[in-house]
Amino acid sequence: MTERVLITDIARFSVNDGPGFRTNVFLKGCPLRCDWCHNPETFSAEPQIYWKRRLCVQCGSCLDACPKDAIRPPVAPELSSSTDSSYQKIDRSRCDRCMECVRVCRYDALQVAGKPMSVSEILDEVERDRPFYSNSGGGMTVSGGEPTAHPGFCLELLDGARDRAIHTCMDTNGHCDFSILGELTEYADIVLYDLKHVDPFKHYEKTGVRNERILDNLVKLSRIHSDIWIRIPVVPDFNDDLEFHRKAADFIASLGGSIRRVDLLPYHNWCQDKYDWLGIDWVYREVEALEPSILEVHAELYRDAGISVTIGGSGFEEAGTEQGLIKSARKT
Ligand code: SF4
Ligand code: SF4
Repeated sequence: MTERVLITDIARFSVNDGPGFRTNVFLKGCPLRCDWCHNPETFSAEPQIYWKRRLCVQCGSCLDACPKDAIRPPVAPELSSSTDSSYQKIDRSRCDRCMECVRVCRYDALQVAGKPMSVSEILDEVERDRPFYSNSGGGMTVSGGEPTAHPGFCLELLDGARDRAIHTCMDTNGHCDFSILGELTEYADIVLYDLKHVDPFKHYEKTGVRNERILDNLVKLSRIHSDIWIRIPVVPDFNDDLEFHRKAADFIASLGGSIRRVDLLPYHNWCQDKYDWLGIDWVYREVEALEPSILEVHAELYRDAGISVTIGGSGFEEAGTEQGLIKSARKT
């Protein structure tokens, strides 16, 4: 039995990460560094500290508790609490994550991102939502971070859910050995597979890795798994051009009936606070969210290729398609 893994959240009643109402389990740790990422707390597999400037009253208790001189001296709260302030409470280069400061903060201004949980603890949490699965076709979605970064744990989690007759989705960026991906996805009823760009250089520029292995793994997976949903985060000045989506539609159509649909996920910036809490200067801070209706023209390219498509990824939306891609029988 695998030990505990850090979980950043178990989000209930999600409607955009697979069919029906989903309970999303976010594992901590990811090999990619997508510049626009909406879950920066899942980059590192280590625990991290959130400092929430709006809750901090600058009482100084954390300064006294820190054995590493990693806490900056208090300033007047009005100088630190605004989102425009450059003041940061923690010098993260000195911090060894002993969490003494979190323990002494009485205002919840310091919190830990990443809670160690076992498979059975997670599944017990997921079970609480079972009544919402049956009528909606929902279940558990394992996400991150990147599930394949914790292969043994993830396998036990998916297998355990199956034992409890809970429908399973696994959301992956596909950047791993295919042996891992192939084994894990045997236990996933649906695979949510991220596609960010078809150009390896552009992919590298914005995610920190090239995409050859990701695309190759998708081709291989499409031959052995029968229910794959492609997820494309549409990001301004990266992959919001029609040329990319024409190429993506051609590529996806070439994979055949395993690809049940494409979800176009418009970039948003609701995660700005999380970057601030982690003390990360987010390069997309000033970039405005994409209006979903702008993507109608992009979606049309997929429909023209006979591919079912949604804007936003709703698990309740009837995705439109004309041809056989989503109508093929299951392979497994
Ligand atoms: S203990 Fe909490 S409220 Fe007090 S200064 Fe530190 S972070 Fe702010
Ligand atoms: S986690 Fe420990 S070392 Fe880091 S800032 Fe807090 S008290 Fe200091």
